[in-house]
Amino acid sequence: MSDYSDYHCHCCPRGCAVDRQAALGFCHAGREPEVASICIHPGEEPPLGGARGVCNVFFAHCNLQCCYCQNLDISRGRVDEAKIFYHSLDEVVARIELLLPQSENVLGFVSPTHYADSVPCIVDRLHADGFNPTVVYNSNGYDDIETLRRMEPYVDVYLPDMKYSDSKLAARLSHAEDYPQRAGEALMEMVRQKGSGLLCDEQGQAFRGIIVRHLVLPGEVDNSLGVLDWLADHLPMNLHLSLMAQYYPPEGADLPENLRRTLSAEEYDRVVDRYYQLGFYNGWLQELSSNESCRPDFSQKDSF
Ligand code: SF4
Repeated sequence: MSDYSDYHCHCCPRGCAVDRQAALGFCHAGREPEVASICIHPGEEPPLGGARGVCNVFFAHCNLQCCYCQNLDISRGRVDEAKIFYHSLDEVVARIELLLPQSENVLGFVSPTHYADSVPCIVDRLHADGFNPTVVYNSNGYDDIETLRRMEPYVDVYLPDMKYSDSKLAARLSHAEDYPQRAGEALMEMVRQKGSGLLCDEQGQAFRGIIVRHLVLPGEVDNSLGVLDWLADHLPMNLHLSLMAQYYPPEGADLPENLRRTLSAEEYDRVVDRYYQLGFYNGWLQELSSNESCRPDFSQKDSF
């Protein structure tokens, strides 16, 4: 059984205050962690993935519920039971211990916010069993500061999204008008904990710090420019920033017109130009063609 400190959930900024043993909040997550996939993921940023990849834990459900979610199968509403392969801490820890030695000894928690209280339990169990991976907290950025403070001793590298600068867009696409403010506060807390840089060992493997990701959405270039402006205004310029162009319209999603296509080269170029104009010098610019290659299949145990 997980060690939940607050049964009336305030894990994320939604603050549903439900007893997750008895009722579902906005994210539809119960108390015990439900995990859709635990697999070696080769596609993370090079200082995390190295040559052998990250052992990623893909939690089911999500506290943001973006209409265009790229992992729709495992995140939206009531997730199909057939998509959940691990239902308990024991199963999760056993699978991680099997895969970690095949990775760069990096453990990535993907969409962990609503299961944040499971992170210390899993990491403690791994330590007790002699495993000591670099722990990556890969969240959508809509994180609660108190929750992040509980993560401080357990997380080595934060890998948050910064999705929106436009609160109306955040409301329309992710039901979270306060996303820009709350994600901004969360990023500043992450930087307070780990610094704004990315510390790497002699092999170039990251062991502490932060990488911020931003997915550029088709037809929403102004939102992306606002995100870059906000980052430049509020965080040090040594920040590692990963610009992502991999958006594709997920099958079965109810999407506004502009999200029914992929990103154009002109749109992406405008965002990349702003990245350089502002003076960012650390990070990665994803190839536009990545919208063809970065598609997980969560009907399989190994999803990438
Ligand atoms: S984690 Fe889920 S139940 Fe808890 S506050 Fe967030 S959305 Fe609500």
